[in-house]
Amino acid sequence: MIRRLLAAHPLGLSLALVLVVFLVDLSLPLGVASAVPYTFAVLLALSARPGWFGPAVAGLCGVLTIAKMELVPERGSTEMWKVIVNRCLALFAISMTLLLGMLRRQATAERARAEERVAEHQADLAHMGRLSLLGQLAAGLAHELNQPLAAVCLQADIAARLAEPGTPVRQELAGALSEITEQSSRAAEIVRSIRRMARRTDPGCDPIDLNEAVRTVARLLDWHAHRSGVVVELHLANDPVGPTFGDRVQIEQVLFNLIQNAIEAIVERGDGPRTITIDTVDGRDVLIVTVRDTGIGIKNPERVFERFYTTKPSGMGMGLAISRSIIEAHGGTMRAVSVADGAVFSFTLPVARKENP
Ligand code: ADP
Repeated sequence: MIRRLLAAHPLGLSLALVLVVFLVDLSLPLGVASAVPYTFAVLLALSARPGWFGPAVAGLCGVLTIAKMELVPERGSTEMWKVIVNRCLALFAISMTLLLGMLRRQATAERARAEERVAEHQADLAHMGRLSLLGQLAAGLAHELNQPLAAVCLQADIAARLAEPGTPVRQELAGALSEITEQSSRAAEIVRSIRRMARRTDPGCDPIDLNEAVRTVARLLDWHAHRSGVVVELHLANDPVGPTFGDRVQIEQVLFNLIQNAIEAIVERGDGPRTITIDTVDGRDVLIVTVRDTGIGIKNPERVFERFYTTKPSGMGMGLAISRSIIEAHGGTMRAVSVADGAVFSFTLPVARKENP
């Protein structure tokens, strides 16, 4: 309560305090003790915006400290030089408070700027990680888009021929047109997902449908898994899950990275079952996502989240480090476990229910 009051009206309270102290100083022989409450007033004014309030109030305190000597020369039995020394000490205390307060204010502002820069760098790092993932996929995506677009061209050609006058083949025409719609929306969805992931935006904080994020990324990597002979199984919790809040694109980036790594681990293994299982579980306080694969297994589970740790000839070793920092920035945790027939990566995200916001 007092804290809120001090924070709400620092300048008003500081000036009121200066006035009270001055009146008390005029009526009592306080000597150097008058500086103590003046320093509180200076500290209060230093917490106000704009920054010149602090020096202004300190200047006022100094002027009043000297003015008191002229208005009420409370010398009594005290010698003049002692009065002057007392007042000089009071002025010294006020100036030192101002100096230390300004240095502290400057340090706080610098820390806030540094924190802002760190957040900026993290967003940039996440963005670069996404671009690198998309870069690796570019050639495959070109191939993937080629397929629906070729189907669209073919079906459009058939439709155009069927639509020629004198050809009563309505059913085949309808089939060709619906195939065009389906294939072109598939191609458009792939392009949309890539554009969303490639965009550099400030991290959002919106409700995320985790099941939908899993479905989107699984769809985007579907062709990659298919070409590698890998089956992706989704065991999703009943809709709706959560909700959890955060940046959907960044969470999709984490899923993308885990599934991509899982496919690569299975390809590296070569023989044996080729399955990735993705589970979502809606716990009371957290949502849990688990990606399990039947790949080579994790060689060094303690090190996989380290920056630049990689066992792949062309790996960068940044994917999991970025993924974990994204999950931690969302208030969750991430872990990796090597199991008998592969690897299990899991992460949690906090649930924002009404009773535990
Ligand atoms: P990169 O894929 O560029 O190597 P990551 O940070 O994504 O970078 O992964 C770091 C390392 O963690 C990989 O090189 C690999 O050794 C290990 N790893 C990641 N995912 C798996 C997995 N599913 N199975 C086995 N090892 C994995």
